[in-house]
Amino acid sequence: MQDDPIPWRTRILAVLAALRMLVTGRHVYLSTGCIAGRHDYCSAPAGAQGDKQPARSKFSQAPCVCWCHDP
Ligand SMILES: [Zn+2]
Ligand SMILES: [Zn+2]
Repeated sequence: MQDDPIPWRTRILAVLAALRMLVTGRHVYLSTGCIAGRHDYCSAPAGAQGDKQPARSKFSQAPCVCWCHDP
């Protein structure tokens, strides 16, 4: 269990995001970068596929719900 790369807090956030999506019917986004602990990647203006919106879904423009984007 010590070598688990995904922090518990991120897992809980992912579950909460999925629940919120079910309850509201709206797309709630938690980036794969943040799920994997790559918060720097999620916040960066450029990704592996080229330019992207920092901390936003490129499909729905929904903001990433990870705590790392909180002011
Ligand atoms: Zn994050
Ligand atoms: Zn994020």
